[in-house]
Parts: sequence; C-alpha cells; structure tokens
Amino acid sequence: MSTNSKLIILGCGHSESEVNLNNNAAVLTNEKLLLIDCGYTIKSALKNQGFKISDIDSIYISHVHGDHVFGLERVGYECLFKYKFRPTLFIKKELYKELWDNTLKGSMSKIGEGEASLETFFKVVFIENDSFYFHDIKIETLKVKHTPNKPSFGICIQNKYLYTTDTIAIPETLSKYKFDYCFHDVTLSDYNPVHATLNSLLNSYTKTTRKKMYLMSYEDNWNDYESSVNLNFKGFIKEGDTFDI
Ligand SMILES: [Zn+2]
Repeated sequence: MSTNSKLIILGCGHSESEVNLNNNAAVLTNEKLLLIDCGYTIKSALKNQGFKISDIDSIYISHVHGDHVFGLERVGYECLFKYKFRPTLFIKKELYKELWDNTLKGSMSKIGEGEASLETFFKVVFIENDSFYFHDIKIETLKVKHTPNKPSFGICIQNKYLYTTDTIAIPETLSKYKFDYCFHDVTLSDYNPVHATLNSLLNSYTKTTRKKMYLMSYEDNWNDYESSVNLNFKGFIKEGDTFDI
C-alpha cells in the first residue's frame, strides 16, 4: 500500500543487556519516523540508523517500563527546546496515569516557563477502537500478557508485521491476526513470569507460526542458542534489520 515505508529494528536487547540497545523499533514513511517505544538508548539507536531526534514525527508507547519509555524525557526536551515542535504521542488511555503521574512527572513537570504537563511536550492522542494511522499505514493494537496488572499492548502493522513487545506466549491472541512475520519477545532463561521462555514458545505455537517468528528482547548469551533458534524459528532479529511495509 505505502511506497518506501519501512519497519526498522532500532534495538533488540534484553533490559539487562550490556551490548544490545533497548527493544525498540520505528516505522519510516515520507522521511518521518513513528517510534515504537522510546527507551533510554533511543538517541544512540537513532544515530546508528542515520536519524536524529528531529526526524521523529510520532511515538507509540506499548507499556511503561524504562527500556520502553525512559527516552521520552530526552526526546520531549529536545523536541520542545531545540527543535521547537511537539511529536504526536499515541497511547492507550490505560497508560496515561502510569506514564505521566507515576513516571515522567517527577523529572518533566517543572521547566523554565513554569509547570509542564505531558501535553507541554507531546500532542497526546488516545488510541480508540484498537487502531490508529501513521500517515496511510494502519496500526492495530493488541493486548499482550506482560507484568500482572500492567497494561501492555503490541501492534500489528498492515496485517503484515505483528510486534508483540514484552509478553509471555499469547497463542490465542496471535491466532486472531494475519501477519507475514511476527517479532516476539523471548527470554533465554528457563523461567520468567513476564517474558516468553524458549520452551513456552516451542510449546505454544505451531511450527508454521514459529517459522514466521523473529525473536527479540534477548539476553547477551544469544549466540549459545542461535542454531536451535534458527532451526525452530525464523531467527533472532538484529539491530538495523529493515522490512518493507
Ligand atoms: Zn516490559
């Protein structure tokens, strides 16, 4: 549908990673970016792909964890004071209080001009009816299963790319969507209550689905698992991998 629109993997690392950047991505269209999450490594992640903060048009936030939102302070400040614009911030209503009152307010609510709110820095758009558009690209949101009682939403881009963000295995949810490839959270540890272990992915998804599945958000010892992952899945996704939308 769109021409020259791309999905770019900005980072694929576990939150503990010492070498890989935060598990964030971006949609590029008409030379403008929609960030898919904005962790604390966002500035390096953009630089590595040849972008600057001023290339950001919009930001989607999946859930409120540092490797997904802690870059918002930097982006908010630089956009407002250095580049003189406010990016659009697409969020589900359920995230607002946790994102501003419980997370960003402490560092962002007082500026030289006085009191500031989330709207001082961003054009906040609440996502209604589980979908929104970035230019002509349709993005559907889907509820995933991450930390208990923490709202977390993955996305499906144009029925082509399903990006789970942080979640345990969610086979019932994925079965409701069409996609060419899925980018799925994984942890390489044997047990984790909030991330999908390799075994849980092997047990939850059919081989057909797994062969369309790139794994992301992995620990630094991923090399030890590469042959097994290549055998059972599409593979590990890597920083800079790019897909046509
Ligand atoms: Zn998380």
